[in-house]
Amino acid sequence: CGVIGIYSNKEVSKKLFYGLNSLQHRGQESAGLCVFDGEKMRLEKSMGLVYDIFSEEVLNRLPGTIGIGHVRYSTAGGSFEYNTQPLIGFTKGKEICLAHNGNLINHQILKTRLEEDGMMFQTTIDSEVILFLISRYYKDDIIEAIKKTMGIIQGAYSIVMMFEDKLIAFRDPNGFRPLVLGVGEDGECIIASENAPLEIIGVSEKRDVEPGEIIVIDKNGIKSKFYESKDKRHHCIFEYVYFARDDATLDDINSYNFRRRCGEILSREAPVEADLIISVPDSGTPGAIGYAQETGIPFAEGLVKNRYMGRTFIKPTNEEREISVKMKLNPLGTVLKGKRIVVVDDSIVRGTTSANLIKRMKEAGAKEVHMRIVSPPVEYPCYYGIDTPSRKNLIAANYSIEEIRKKIGADSLAFISMDGMIEASLKEKDIFCKACFNGDYPVDPILI
Ligand code: SF4
Ligand code: MG
Repeated sequence: CGVIGIYSNKEVSKKLFYGLNSLQHRGQESAGLCVFDGEKMRLEKSMGLVYDIFSEEVLNRLPGTIGIGHVRYSTAGGSFEYNTQPLIGFTKGKEICLAHNGNLINHQILKTRLEEDGMMFQTTIDSEVILFLISRYYKDDIIEAIKKTMGIIQGAYSIVMMFEDKLIAFRDPNGFRPLVLGVGEDGECIIASENAPLEIIGVSEKRDVEPGEIIVIDKNGIKSKFYESKDKRHHCIFEYVYFARDDATLDDINSYNFRRRCGEILSREAPVEADLIISVPDSGTPGAIGYAQETGIPFAEGLVKNRYMGRTFIKPTNEEREISVKMKLNPLGTVLKGKRIVVVDDSIVRGTTSANLIKRMKEAGAKEVHMRIVSPPVEYPCYYGIDTPSRKNLIAANYSIEEIRKKIGADSLAFISMDGMIEASLKEKDIFCKACFNGDYPVDPILI
């Protein structure tokens, strides 16, 4: 998912719309905005894309100078209207509204307990547990209520929230999902999942919201508190592999550079004689460019992409995914014919994309197809907000690399090594969550 919040002294609905639009890649199932005008919060949310939901008319129904927004792709809880965000509620007669990116690992247990206490939930998402706990713990100090809640919820959460005249943001102590804060010259503050909205709306300063940090913005300025100052950061490395935009610089790592360096390193780890390097656009492109620059083999466009479709992965069923791949990417026969091709993609999850593409590239005349993947094999599910639900769907959890090669019909197949990927980040390996690759979960998901 993607979240955004803006605190301003001018109307914010249009800016929220622009910002949320540039987070669209983080979720395409539903979108919502909630704006506070000093007296009342108004919420508009629906299934669908930001651009389709928020016409001028809808934005005009959202007057006010503080607001938050959300784009959703489902991990916990199905893809339904009742699970759209932001979520709004009341505590001590005051409105409270929040938007969440991430996934709690103990939401089932918490929900069951709360239901036994007589609570009735209106959604099936974990985020409602957070809203409920904050409301329950609020006496007269919202920070205390958030800290208490952070002591109970476990897993991944990057949250923006509105309460009274405040814009609040907080991030789990592992910092699984990104969250950045920007301040404009006129003091306008923007908090978002990635930096693209900040750059589009315009800020003069920006920084990451730190793991475990709680930020409160109101007329007195920006205040920062920590739930826990112990540094146990575990940033999701998959954000840099795939999820975040190329222009995202999150926790001091730029995803484009990371992806390009992964391609360079992989070209040294798994070289192959070939005529052309192509990418599976768009997520494989920086890796392919890195692979091509390092080897001197020319980069070419060998797949035509339908730009009017969403990210294929972020569609709930398998069958839909298969058709999506076909509609989305079509081999370019004139480029591929008679050539030995290296195809670079960012990841293999189910194997749907590569199997389908290789078959059609060969039909289009490619002589050889060598698949190169700029992340290690995904062998374990993610419990922290990326949708890789069970091991039975993960091709690398069930087959060896040689078996996968045969299944997808490649002439050769290689994945970057874990060490190679870490090297590409230019950081220490300990600061990342890499659990979907190595099963080493920073927060024990045993509770699920
Ligand atoms: Fe990211 Fe993988 Fe960790 Fe999930 S398991 S947070 S996708 S690195
Ligand atoms: Mg892709």
